[in-house]
Amino acid sequence: MPKESACRKCKALTSGKVCPICSSTDLTSRWSGLIIILDPERSKVAQMLNIKNKGRYAIEVS
Ligand SMILES: [Zn+2]
Repeated sequence: MPKESACRKCKALTSGKVCPICSSTDLTSRWSGLIIILDPERSKVAQMLNIKNKGRYAIEVS
């Protein structure tokens, strides 16, 4: 499994060097918890975490 980084701004996970959601390069390998959002408009969790795009996200980013 490739090591992924989490975006500090929107918490999206990526194996690249740029966030696929917000294009930020402020990424960290120190994250925990994984959530997969398939339908951000209907997901309560997505609303709670203020996620507007589907994808894979970290729950906590440090
Ligand atoms: Zn981001």
